[in-house]
Amino acid sequence: MNTNYFTSEHQLFRKSLRDFLDREIVPHIDEWEEKGEIPVSAFNKLGQMGYYGLGFEEKFGGMQTDIFYTIILVEELNKCNSAGTAASLLSHPTLALEHLSKNGSDFLKTKYLEPGIAGEIIGCLAISEPQAGSDVSNIQTKAEEKESYYLINGAKTFITNGVKSDFYVAAVRTGDKGYDGISMMVIDRKSEGVQTNRLKKLGWHASETAEIAFDNVKVPKENLIGEINKGFYYIMEKFELERLILSTGALASAEYALTYGLQYMSEREAFNRPLNKFQELRHRVAQLSAELECLKAFNYQICQALQQKEDVTKECAMTKLLCTEFMDKLSYQVLQFFGGYGYMEEYKAARIFRDSRIGTIGGGTSEIMREIIAKSIIG
Ligand SMILES: Cc1cc2nc3c(=O)[nH]c(=O)nc-3n(C[C@H](O)[C@H](O)[C@H](O)COP(=O)(O)OP(=O)(O)OC[C@H]3O[C@@H](n4cnc5c(N)ncnc54)[C@H](O)[C@@H]3O)c2cc1C
Repeated sequence: MNTNYFTSEHQLFRKSLRDFLDREIVPHIDEWEEKGEIPVSAFNKLGQMGYYGLGFEEKFGGMQTDIFYTIILVEELNKCNSAGTAASLLSHPTLALEHLSKNGSDFLKTKYLEPGIAGEIIGCLAISEPQAGSDVSNIQTKAEEKESYYLINGAKTFITNGVKSDFYVAAVRTGDKGYDGISMMVIDRKSEGVQTNRLKKLGWHASETAEIAFDNVKVPKENLIGEINKGFYYIMEKFELERLILSTGALASAEYALTYGLQYMSEREAFNRPLNKFQELRHRVAQLSAELECLKAFNYQICQALQQKEDVTKECAMTKLLCTEFMDKLSYQVLQFFGGYGYMEEYKAARIFRDSRIGTIGGGTSEIMREIIAKSIIG
C-alpha cells in the first residue's frame, strides 16, 4: 500500500541505504552474531555515510531531515536478519545522541554530539540499574557534588553497547529520593573507576549488553546535561521516540520474517502440495498480514503526530505494546511454518524467534505500557 508519508526523496534514500547495508553490513552479520559484538568500524561507516546525522543540527554535522528518514533507517536495519545488529547500531544515535541533541550544552555537543554524528565515537544510554528497571524514579547511582566535579558511585545494568561505548549518557541521583532528584550527565568510559562486564543473553547476540560499575568516578560539572534534577522528565520525553523506534523495528522485522516464511511455504512440499496450499496455513498468513498492515498504518500516523509535536505519550505506549507483542506472535508462527527446520540454527527463523522476545521488555515492558495507557484513559 502506498502511503503519504514517503516522498520520492525518501525512496531514493531508502534505496541507497539498502545498497549500503547489503554491501557493508549484511555479509558480516553471521560472524558478529557468533562473536557477540559488532566492530567499531561498522559504527564508523554509518557515521561517515551521514546516517547518524538524521534529524540533528547542521552546526554539529547533522541534517535537518524529517522523522521518516529515521524511520527508514530503523526499518532497513531491521531487515538485515539480526535485530541485535539493528539495536546496537541504532541505540547510539536514537538513544545517546538524541539526549545530547535535545538537552546538551554547546560544549557537550561539540565534544560528544559532533564526533558521535561522524561515527568517530560511540555513546549509549545508561538508565537501568539492578534495582531500578521499570521504576526509573528509583535510580540509586549517586552523583555527589564536589567543588569542580561530581563523584559517581553505583551500577547500571543491561546497557546496550555498554562495553564498547566511549561515553555514557547516564541517569544519576543528584537530589532526594524520587522523580525530582535525578539528573542526566555524560560519563567517559575511560574515566578512572569505571568497570564493565558483558552479559550473556537469550537473543540479540550481535548486540553487546553490559553491566557497568562506577567506583568514585570523577565527572566534570560541565558534563551535566540540561538542568540539575530534571533528568526524569528528559527521560520520559525521550521515551516517546524510543518506543516508536522499537515499534517500527518490530514491524519491519515482522515484514521481513513473513516474506521469508512465505518463500519457504512456496518451496516446501507436504502431501504432494506446497505448504502454501493448505488452508490452515493460508488463513494464518492472511490474519498476520491484515494485522501487520493495520499496525503499520497506526504506527506511521503516530510518527507524523510526533513530528508535528503533538502529545503522543499514550499512542507511543499503544503502538509499542501492540507491535512488539504482534512480532512475538508472528515470529512464533513463522518458525512453525518451517517445522523442524525452523528449530535449526542454519535457518533464519530461529534467530528471528529469539531476537523478538526482548521487544516486550526493553524500552518499557508491556505491563508498563498498559499502565501508561490505562492511566491516560481512566486516570
Ligand atoms: C537486551 C537488553 C537491552 C537493554 N538495553 C538497555 C539500554 O541500552 N539502556 C537502559 O537503560 N536499559 C536497557 N535495558 C533495560 C530494560 O529497559 C529493562 O530491562 C526494562 O525496562 C525492564 O526493567 P527490569 O528488567 O528491571 O524489570 P522489572 O522492572 O524488575 O520488572 C519485572 C516484571 O515486573 C513487571 N512490572 C514492574 N512494574 C510493574 C507495574 N507497575 N505493574 C505491572 N507489572 C510491573 C514488569 O513488566 C516485568 O514483567 C535493556 C534490557 C535488555 C534485556
